[in-house]
Amino acid sequence: METIKCLIAGSGPAGYTAAIYAARANLQPVLYEGVLRGGQLTTTTEIENFPGYPKGVDGNQLMEDLRQQAERFGTDLRPGIIVETKLDEWPFRIKLDDGKEMLAKTLIIATGATARYLGLESETKFRGMGVSACATCDGFFYRGKDVAVVGGGDTACEEAVYLSGLCRKVYMIVRRNVFRASKVMQERVLSTPNIEVLWEHQTREILGDNTGVTGALLVHKSGKEKVIDIHGFFLAIGHHPNSEAFRPWVEVNPEGYIITRPKSTETNVEGVFAAGDVQDNKYRQAITAAGSGCMAAMDAERYLSMKSGL
Ligand code: NDP
Repeated sequence: METIKCLIAGSGPAGYTAAIYAARANLQPVLYEGVLRGGQLTTTTEIENFPGYPKGVDGNQLMEDLRQQAERFGTDLRPGIIVETKLDEWPFRIKLDDGKEMLAKTLIIATGATARYLGLESETKFRGMGVSACATCDGFFYRGKDVAVVGGGDTACEEAVYLSGLCRKVYMIVRRNVFRASKVMQERVLSTPNIEVLWEHQTREILGDNTGVTGALLVHKSGKEKVIDIHGFFLAIGHHPNSEAFRPWVEVNPEGYIITRPKSTETNVEGVFAAGDVQDNKYRQAITAAGSGCMAAMDAERYLSMKSGL
């Protein structure tokens, strides 16, 4: 059976950055690219806040650049999804979706998180054309316009407040008559004059044309329908960390995010590291994910040299 020195799961900014550092440290990394090659950034358009691109960069292009950089230093990039692991023996046993098995001396989990969507057809149609799951990434494109945020948790409140500084008006579409968010965030929302909370409303359809989103059709709990005119529709109904394949062994929080030791990418399993959104429900930025990918490769390198020195 093949034994890999450094196995990386995931091909977002965290995975590719881990690969660049691991390859340059001669760990001969093998990276499985997972469900969505390039990760969440490939679902957005222009990225303006990744340092080093003063004119902005297309999400797909940025990921392709990172991929090529990882490849340039010798990363073995492979298609495939890790579906099962056995991390209580070393080297770790890894199983892929095609049934193939292998052993790994270190494992870097960078499988990311997937934003939850409502499941409407119109939502898919206008994704990247007004529908977004990241206000920090895309809010800037809606300066001076009216937008809506769906959700009543901390993320929704934080995004609504962020957008209120850029946009003319922000509607919050909340399905119950209470927020789930912390008190402090609720108060911040309720004291922001250009945020209007539409309690007990759900989205029936996102409206638009070939220019993108132009509105949303909502329905109140009573059954009464209402159309709001908006250009941006932001989903903030939670994320789903892609940690299932590792959960039997690696400690996760109640939402499924992998727990790493403070200021480190170490998990509770020695030799297994986690980077990017699969272990971060707070910052969730490409640049922070890339930073933690770098840390994970350095942690893996230290672990291997410690092992060989034993
Ligand atoms: P949450 O799960 O906390 O909230 C999700 C929100 O979306 C809820 O209001 C929920 O409604 C609503 N929702 C879910 N599904 C639907 C749907 N199909 N239609 C309409 N509304 C829906 O997710 P968050 O991303 O807000 O937060 C995740 C975790 O991260 C939390 O623990 C949060 O506290 C934390 N966090 C912390 C931050 C910080 O400390 N600065 C910032 C952001 C997040 P309902 O309430 O009815 O279920």
